[in-house]
Amino acid sequence: MAKLTEIKAKEKYLSINWQVNNFCNYSCTYCNPGNYIGDSPNLGNLETYIQNLDIIITKYEQQNYRHFKFFFSGGEPTAWKNFIPIAEWMRERIPESTIAVNTNLSRPLAWWEKYHYLFDDIVASFHVEHADKDKYLEKSLYLCDKVNYLASKMLMHDERFWEVVEYGELLKQILPNYFIEWTPLFDEISTNAGPWNYTDPEKSEFLKLHSSEHLQTVDKPWRPTPCISHAVWDDGTEDVCNSNDIIVKDANFFEGWECTIGDAVFINQIGNVSMGSCGQAGMVGNILSDVSLVGPKQLICAKSHCTCGTDIIIPKRDISVC
Ligand code: SF4
Ligand code: SF4
Repeated sequence: MAKLTEIKAKEKYLSINWQVNNFCNYSCTYCNPGNYIGDSPNLGNLETYIQNLDIIITKYEQQNYRHFKFFFSGGEPTAWKNFIPIAEWMRERIPESTIAVNTNLSRPLAWWEKYHYLFDDIVASFHVEHADKDKYLEKSLYLCDKVNYLASKMLMHDERFWEVVEYGELLKQILPNYFIEWTPLFDEISTNAGPWNYTDPEKSEFLKLHSSEHLQTVDKPWRPTPCISHAVWDDGTEDVCNSNDIIVKDANFFEGWECTIGDAVFINQIGNVSMGSCGQAGMVGNILSDVSLVGPKQLICAKSHCTCGTDIIIPKRDISVC
């Protein structure tokens, strides 16, 4: 089997992943309260966030980074009061940037009609305990041809599993464009230490056979993003780097590799800034105070296992072979 030797970006890009709050208007039983309780409202001064974001972007631009990808998550990011002003500022500061949001889609249709133009990618999680099924469908129908990528992420609630399947099937019948992800409950949000254990073999079988399904029958505003990493293999092949594939191929072990960790900036719900989410580069600042240490950076990876999808696609190379 071919061996991975490098993950590379054809054109340098910076990815900023920002967990803007830990407040959510839902309180899913499979979610860790730390993701929805709201004790970190992140209510800093808008001007300060913008000034410091501008300092970070300018520093990367000076080192020839031309492409930027912003990914907002929470809690529920659309509930954060600075969310829209900051997304508007980003759209204006770098019009061709890629802006993505992970949301529970609970904002009313009128909100999405007004603001959808700000987003390229919307990852819309469906949570059966709280979501209004008719309204989720109505908003999905509206958005499915308005943005590059609308992912309907079906969170597979254990007791209401087949109800979620039925609803996902309904979306598939009605939406002219869809990208459905059947998403097992996962340790990132669950109170469990590991992935959810579905004891019913029929549910496990369903998840084994269903990962994602997609269809496009009507046009949507396709803007190709240059923010893409490629996986290079020692048999000379090269493909778009998909972190799930890398994990499935057991190729996410980069100890001793040179990692361009500064290409991925993480901002947590209290504003602390780190590079990568693996902890290798430590904390380098806070978005409300000092970001002078945030910038392009490389290091030799000392961790045996690179686990997070956004960390895996950071450019890196095996210095023993290339
Ligand atoms: S799983 Fe998502 S939608 Fe549900 S409470 Fe947690 S953050 Fe909110
Ligand atoms: S664990 Fe961290 S340093 Fe190592 S390859 Fe992954 S992102 Fe880079």
